[in-house]
Amino acid sequence: MGFASRHIGTSQSDQQAMLEVVGAATVEELMDQAVPNQIRSEGRLHLPPAATEQQVARELAQMASHNTVRTSMIGQGFYDTATPAVIRRGILENPSWYTAYTPYQPEISQGRLEALLGFQTVVSELTGLPIAGASLLDEASAGVEAVLLAVRVHRGELRRVAVSSDLFEASKAVLTNRCDALGIEIRWVDATENLDLTDCAALVVQYPGAGGVVHPYHAYTTMADQIHAAGGTFVVIADLLACSMLVPPGRLGADVVAGSAQRLGIPLGGGGPHAAYIATTQANERQLPGRLVGVSRDSAGHPAFRLSLQTREQHIRREKATSNICTAQSLLAIVASMYVVYHGPEGLKNIAETIHAHTLDLARKLCDSGHRITHKAFFDTVELEIPGRARPAQLTLLAKGIAVYLHSPSHLRISCDELTETSTIDAIAQALEPFADSGKSEQIEELPAASLRTDSFLEQATFHRYRSETDLMRYMRRLGDKDYALNRGMIPLGSCTMKLNAAVEVSAMTLEGFAHIHPYAPPEDHAGFERLAEDLERWLCEITGYDAVSLQPNAGSQGELAGLLAVRGYHRARGEARDVCLIPASAHGTNAASATLAGFRVVVVTSKPDGSIDLEDLRSKIAENRDRIGAIMLTYPSTHGIYEESVGEVISMVHQSGGQVYIDGANLNAMVGFARPGDMGGDVSHLNLHKTFAIPHGGGGPGVGPVAAKAHLAPYLPGFPGRRESALPGSGAVAAAPWGSASVLPISWAYIRLMGAEGLSAATASAVLAANYIADSLDHVIPVLYRGSSGRVAHECILDVRGFKQAGISVDDVAKRLVDYGFHAPTMSFPVPGTLMVEPTESEGRSELDRFCAAMLSITEEVTKVATGHWPREDNPLINAPHTAEVVIASEWNHPYSREIAAYPAVYGVGTEVLDPELARYMVEDKYWPPVGRVDGPWGDRNLQCTCPPPEAFTAS
Ligand SMILES: *Cc1c(COP(=O)(O)O)cnc(C)c1O
Repeated sequence: MGFASRHIGTSQSDQQAMLEVVGAATVEELMDQAVPNQIRSEGRLHLPPAATEQQVARELAQMASHNTVRTSMIGQGFYDTATPAVIRRGILENPSWYTAYTPYQPEISQGRLEALLGFQTVVSELTGLPIAGASLLDEASAGVEAVLLAVRVHRGELRRVAVSSDLFEASKAVLTNRCDALGIEIRWVDATENLDLTDCAALVVQYPGAGGVVHPYHAYTTMADQIHAAGGTFVVIADLLACSMLVPPGRLGADVVAGSAQRLGIPLGGGGPHAAYIATTQANERQLPGRLVGVSRDSAGHPAFRLSLQTREQHIRREKATSNICTAQSLLAIVASMYVVYHGPEGLKNIAETIHAHTLDLARKLCDSGHRITHKAFFDTVELEIPGRARPAQLTLLAKGIAVYLHSPSHLRISCDELTETSTIDAIAQALEPFADSGKSEQIEELPAASLRTDSFLEQATFHRYRSETDLMRYMRRLGDKDYALNRGMIPLGSCTMKLNAAVEVSAMTLEGFAHIHPYAPPEDHAGFERLAEDLERWLCEITGYDAVSLQPNAGSQGELAGLLAVRGYHRARGEARDVCLIPASAHGTNAASATLAGFRVVVVTSKPDGSIDLEDLRSKIAENRDRIGAIMLTYPSTHGIYEESVGEVISMVHQSGGQVYIDGANLNAMVGFARPGDMGGDVSHLNLHKTFAIPHGGGGPGVGPVAAKAHLAPYLPGFPGRRESALPGSGAVAAAPWGSASVLPISWAYIRLMGAEGLSAATASAVLAANYIADSLDHVIPVLYRGSSGRVAHECILDVRGFKQAGISVDDVAKRLVDYGFHAPTMSFPVPGTLMVEPTESEGRSELDRFCAAMLSITEEVTKVATGHWPREDNPLINAPHTAEVVIASEWNHPYSREIAAYPAVYGVGTEVLDPELARYMVEDKYWPPVGRVDGPWGDRNLQCTCPPPEAFTAS
């Protein structure tokens, strides 16, 4: 079975042995029992036959070569940049970094937490604001998050914002779309004028402006004063690189600053993935959307990093969450952070000044030849007036291999970047000479001193210590080694599908033809991406049973939002005011948050004791909201990890009420090849390509969350209606780029191409077998909370460890003790508090599944020792877990259990007699040592610190 047998971790004979444990004769029989008949799809998926690794590598290279890489001076939020090779290899192409999960378990995530703290520090110092988050999705959606933050600050009472019309077109499109859903009125303004800001929650400006302008210092402080006088928030969308040379927005009076960190070393990639950022004042710290890394301390009192409480709890706050963002852009934020470590503040400033010098040079040359330019003060972008002839001028440059931005029939915008060369400037000036008509040359002055940044910034040691490649290589290795990623062992996180990200799949991302394409490059330059997107859209339609797919959403949360906005658009077009979204109590937190952001009112449907949707409650909620039901959001298989039999009934009840059915497809790994949400009655779904379709999690992003829908909703999906003529977003846009995170789409394309229909079905069945194997191997001591009516679980199972409470052992203790056994904990307390949800995926081999089961059984015996008083409740290996090397080798050891049990419980611990000696040896040799002990979350929240320690802290220690 070609590549599929490398993707699937269990061999035929392993599966036979596992089937004996679960009591099924064949995998087919198991699937017949597990998947309810009424949702089971007929026949095989129509997909191309499975290809070999070599074929796929060749086809990917071919598609990349069909993209045309030109000198991109299009700008508009996307700039060419030099990703230092040491960072590309050390981070972007390194499984220690890209196969990690979001750092919810801080003890095993110190490396990426430290790197993300570095990112926050970079953002904070460049923007001049104290609190910065650990990344958002893209500049356009970050702008929306900033506006929503401002609206929240006013408790939602002020629902009007003034927005400068000098924003990038994509930012305007996404903001318009999102504000419309929430009934927030946008007043488009020229921010340099005397403004009436009465009742405005915010004034939003871009710095520098979309046309390149840098207004005089006092123009910005006047804007700040005006909006502050009106009681509103000053929001600035800023270019981070420009902030190394211009006065930072925080000093101009900004309360919130947001934007993209792309040009800090992140490849263009056809539009993404890139890291966006947001920063704000102390006063707004509780309102920050997305995740925030903070410094706390561990059980030994050493400094340790972790996600701050409010951001870990976003999920739990559901419709009250500050945002629906879950997966963000960690990997890319880490690349940006390392880029600044590599260059340091003076290197950054030097890059910015060189870019600015090139732009000045360009502007002067254009003026000398008689061109008119719109703004005399700029950073990196020149807007050129060519009355009525901008398009031919653009084409002339294109013929010379230079792509620029056509702003209007009479205006071109040309943006310089880190890779701009003097020869290009000369070529542009020369090529545009015939288009000059004013005849008189204007003077271009230097930027006034008041506009320039004079303070020193980024003085923290991290940004000065690792300048040689040797030092940086070691720094990144040191951080990477602190973390537990898939290259160490399984990450059995329920609902997250941490499967293999095969090397051949992920390698396409950095191919020249994918990495260096600007999202708004002329359509013919995108031919390779076009073909890739067409294939992927078609295949995903086939896999899901829907009619149309939009690849634009850059995370599951954004797919949810786009899908719900489509539902909203559909109802509105029919003149129906359906504003209620039904959401089961067990739903993923993003569901409720997305529904709120799409303008729906969330009505919760309760679950029955067996975990299934309570049909009685559903019936009464529908009756209470007659004619107002807009949609229900179902997760299938349910978040309880079972294939609910009643799903058909739920769907028809909602359809009869006039509502649409949204099926959250994040759990599609339990369905591919066996059931299709579109056939089950779903109207719309999102899929998580970073779960089911092999895009790596990157320590918390990138993600891709395509939204798929039936034909009646297709016109409302995020699209680029005029895509062939214009690459800018059209209606329904949720991201700035047509295909969102285009450069990671080859990963899912390659996965489907390698697996073929048969391989994909085999993967699903293997995942379900693995979950049932774990459930049935452990159930006799740790109850499996929910099972389907046939007694089977789907691709994950909930282990109910709440019984351990009698011995004073919490789910946290179990999760941390698993670290000592060499595991990443399963999902904790979701969807049921106090339990563990285990999703092994098809990629784990039987020995790894057995190692996990052995660890869980051994932990159960340890709990028994506490329960029977053999180990005291206040001193036992569970509550002291995880054990660091420092603790274990300390000369003093006065615990009632041995050092061996502390550090090597799988080998020397209780109930481990059966361990195969070879496995035991490797578990000693390859022991994962957590760099810190248990991290104290509450302490960190009381002492919030979310940037690198100031320089004096280093000299003191
Ligand atoms: C992961 C997940 C989501 C959210 O996806 P993100 O990409 O993290 O935004 C939504 N629903 C379910 C059921 C999930 O498991």
